[in-house]
Amino acid sequence: MVGSGTMGYWSRYRSVPIVYRIGAAFVLGSLFGLLVGEPATALEPLGDLFIDLLSMLIIPIVVFTLIMGARRLSPSNLGKIGGQVVGAYAITSALAVFVGLAVANLINPGRGLEGWQDADAETAEAPDIQEVLLGIVPENPLGAMAEGEVLPTIFFVIVFGLALAIVQENVDSENVRDGVETIFDIMEAGAEAMFKVVWGVMEYGVIGVFALMAVVFGEAGTDAIVPFAMLILTLALAVTVHIALVHLGGIVAMLVGESPRALLVGGKDALITALSIRSSSGTLPVTMANADDNLHIDESVYSFSLPLGATINMDGTALYQGVAAIFAANLVGMSLTLGQQLTVVAVAVLASVGAAGVPGTGLIMLTLVLTQLGLPLEVVGFVAGVDPLLDRLRTMTNISGDLAVTTLVAKWNDAVDFTSGTWAAGDEAIAPADDD
Ligand code: ASP
Repeated sequence: MVGSGTMGYWSRYRSVPIVYRIGAAFVLGSLFGLLVGEPATALEPLGDLFIDLLSMLIIPIVVFTLIMGARRLSPSNLGKIGGQVVGAYAITSALAVFVGLAVANLINPGRGLEGWQDADAETAEAPDIQEVLLGIVPENPLGAMAEGEVLPTIFFVIVFGLALAIVQENVDSENVRDGVETIFDIMEAGAEAMFKVVWGVMEYGVIGVFALMAVVFGEAGTDAIVPFAMLILTLALAVTVHIALVHLGGIVAMLVGESPRALLVGGKDALITALSIRSSSGTLPVTMANADDNLHIDESVYSFSLPLGATINMDGTALYQGVAAIFAANLVGMSLTLGQQLTVVAVAVLASVGAAGVPGTGLIMLTLVLTQLGLPLEVVGFVAGVDPLLDRLRTMTNISGDLAVTTLVAKWNDAVDFTSGTWAAGDEAIAPADDD
């Protein structure tokens, strides 16, 4: 029968883990864009729809899981976990810039590129760290949520969650205690429901990612990319080295003492989503779903560390500043002194704290780094054309860093179950969890 045949195809299709289907869409969409060229940009709304669907989930997931997490957190615990998370984020970001500088010093991208000065000199404004810090406290919590501002939302929700936990412990009235319990239960139900929606959105992601990639390559074409091959390769090599040495080798294998493969397999949906949509914030619902469903990390850690990481921890973005600084210096035939390279580390780490995890942030941040080094800002306009490609590698590295640090802090606080999920089972055993 036709019906059962169609069902057969559908269930065979669904039995392939979502990450492979999205991976295939990534490759096929890119090829489609290259072959078809400009007309492929007509697919743009289909790609935008995927990003909108993910964005829709950010605030609800952050709110639900953070309040759930507060159930198990005392203020002192939160202070301890917060300190560990922020410290580890800062260290990995600094290491990332060192890796970026080291690899770029070896490869020296940008040598032999003439005529670059004709580039469009458009630049953007660097973020103001002080403003960002002050902005953490929302004047109006509902306004912050409505605007999708993650940091002020985290701040308010943590305060509210902790207050709920304190009320539950101290108040005499049974009604109030029951009320708090009910709020926690509702939040738990809400979070579970949101994770279900994440996997539903990922099903649509197969179409969304195809469209996103077709548009990028349809617009750029290979001609626009070739002159930047060395820059792209240098960044690709540097992020590979950083993920392998720092995230997988240093953090997961050495400090956590678990299999790096388990982190990659557990976080694969988030990594490929980051690669596809080039936004840490947009990827957040998937990163949280992976931390919960596959890596079996407790929400008392990830509900706090992942939204925070999406904003303040950007290893790939920081690393790119190192690579781009060397590239820019080579373009003008300058070489950066050790002092200047250390300046890049300081500026990149600080700026990556203040900048939002959205597409193109790393390019904006470059303005700050170049100004600090006295290099021409026109370089920003010059590399802007290939930034949609570079941004993907940066964002994927940002997410990998968030997940590695979250795992480490969860281990330190006994908030992860290494006997289950991908830690215990490997690829095959978690595939159904992805899709259900
Ligand atoms: N797009 C990156 C992110 O969302 C930031 C960047 O531009 O490097 O994490």
